[in-house]
Amino acid sequence: PAKTMDELVSLCKRRGFIFQGSEIYGGMQGAYDYGPLGVELKNNLKDAWWRAMVYDRDDVEGLDAAIIQNKYVYKYSGHEDTFTDPMVDCHDCKARMRADHMKDIKVCDQCGSTKVTEPRDFNLMFKTNVGPMVNEESYTYLRPETAQGIFTNFKNVVDSTSRALPFGIAQIGKSFRNEITPRNFIFRVREFEQMELEFFCKPGEDEQWHDTWVKLRKQWWLDQGLAEENIQFEYVTGDDLAHYSKATVDILYKFPHGYEELEGVANRTDYDLGSHTKAQEEFGLSAKVKKNEHSTTKLAVRDLEENKNVVPFCIEPSAGLDRGVLAVLTEAYTEEELENGSSRIVLKLKPHLAPIKVAVLPLKKNKTEIVEAAKAIKNRLQKLGLGRILFENTGNVGKGYRRHDEVGTPLCITVDFDTIEQEGAPVTVRHRDTMAQEVVNTADLPSFILNYFVN
Ligand code: ATP
Repeated sequence: PAKTMDELVSLCKRRGFIFQGSEIYGGMQGAYDYGPLGVELKNNLKDAWWRAMVYDRDDVEGLDAAIIQNKYVYKYSGHEDTFTDPMVDCHDCKARMRADHMKDIKVCDQCGSTKVTEPRDFNLMFKTNVGPMVNEESYTYLRPETAQGIFTNFKNVVDSTSRALPFGIAQIGKSFRNEITPRNFIFRVREFEQMELEFFCKPGEDEQWHDTWVKLRKQWWLDQGLAEENIQFEYVTGDDLAHYSKATVDILYKFPHGYEELEGVANRTDYDLGSHTKAQEEFGLSAKVKKNEHSTTKLAVRDLEENKNVVPFCIEPSAGLDRGVLAVLTEAYTEEELENGSSRIVLKLKPHLAPIKVAVLPLKKNKTEIVEAAKAIKNRLQKLGLGRILFENTGNVGKGYRRHDEVGTPLCITVDFDTIEQEGAPVTVRHRDTMAQEVVNTADLPSFILNYFVN
């Protein structure tokens, strides 16, 4: 794994994974842009999540809700009142910082001064104006989590799919938090993506489902290539629990800057549906909620056994996609000494996450037949639907191998003279991790490649 954040930042910029946002204007703190390879890696991680959470299960539906929502969503979700971090100001250098990392000794992390203010609450939501009029009523917020769009669509999804408990709704999308101190590359940013599942169950079955989801989510991260020894659980207690949570287990990963949260699995009880529902008094809610004077809809389901309407409990595994990208990059980053005394950087990404699945390299740059044969192979493999297959004609295969090691391309195919001489001629397939080369007949290539990636 990577030892420092700097080596990752440098690789990401050099090879086109991740760039500082608005770089040509001096940057924008807490915002990053995903480059040609970064967008592929990120999409692959999203796809893996969607497959595991939606396609592989038969009890989860997908959703893609709007980012801007009615301001009442945030009034009743509790975010307007309580989605804050404690902030302190330094009297000496005027810096502002998040206070909850400071523990008992309060020292400015910019200048070292101990002259800092008492912590005060800072709301992390971005406020924005909607429509051409600017007045006291015309505001809303950018969503700080995707979850609220799931709760507000609960009834729509139940009515349109006839779902009964237990079932879940999954969503991937952007969230925004005006973090006081964004830092550690893409770990803490102001614009990020979340992969969230809200899993609804009967009250009383919540603790069991919570345990189940913690286990399932850990296994999923292992399937993405994270090593078990680099994952820890943290049981969140007391003041650190979010306003909606009865119990939260954080899944921590050993990032270059230490063990930090990758995903939180929270038991949100009946808080959210209870907060957003009409006729709250009918349901005997367990959570303490604000009295709702605006909702038009009951967010409950019929419990046929008990013959009454109940507001389900909700278990939420909420993962940060950017933190996921950072974790898989950290884990995959490998520096290897080779037998001949040189060294190489290899990104040992799981094949399903690799930005480029296969690179097809003609051995000779100017030999038309070889180049055409390589292009034909690329086109054929691209149709398999595995992701990006790259045709690359630089004429320097050795350099190509090194570059593809560094960006994690699992297989390179070299096309040389032999290939053009007869139908079904052999090509050389070179493996990223072992650097082993094997000869495969072009006629067998599609099934060889499919077998390699689809398993
Ligand atoms: P932290 O304590 O690190 O601020 P959190 O507990 O506030 O995180 P949650 O509200 O549980 O985070 O959000 C769920 C997930 O969303 C987190 O586990 C993380 O992966 C991701 N996430 C939250 N805030 C950020 C951020 N500022 N930048 C990147 N990812 C984030």
